[in-house]
Amino acid sequence: MIRQALARFMSGRYGGDQLNLFLIVVYVVLYVLSLILRWPVLNLLTLVLLIIAFFRMLSRNIDRRRAENTKFLQITRPVLRNFKTLRVRVSDRDHRYFKCPNCGQQMRVPRGKGRITVHCRSCGATFEEKS
Ligand SMILES: [Zn+2]
Repeated sequence: MIRQALARFMSGRYGGDQLNLFLIVVYVVLYVLSLILRWPVLNLLTLVLLIIAFFRMLSRNIDRRRAENTKFLQITRPVLRNFKTLRVRVSDRDHRYFKCPNCGQQMRVPRGKGRITVHCRSCGATFEEKS
């Protein structure tokens, strides 16, 4: 019953997306911070974040909200990718990671093989690298 009412209420509305999830996570973090710090500005900011998140969720202007989310993903995707490669690098103890001195392409070599000649697959440069 409540579920149906909610479904009816939400029909034609935008709902959740990655940007809203992000806003809510930031909201929770700031909310906890505001409990500790008790800054009036922070309280206001958390409230504004919550209002934006709700506004976006209940919005009927779906195209506009979708465009906002796309923009958000465009901004955050490189950051997330860097984070992912960093995690892979840290957990991968069998390889040494470096960038091609010619084109900047990310490369890796097996560790502990001394000085080896590396051939860049991206630009074709050949150079020596210690492994
Ligand atoms: Zn290269």
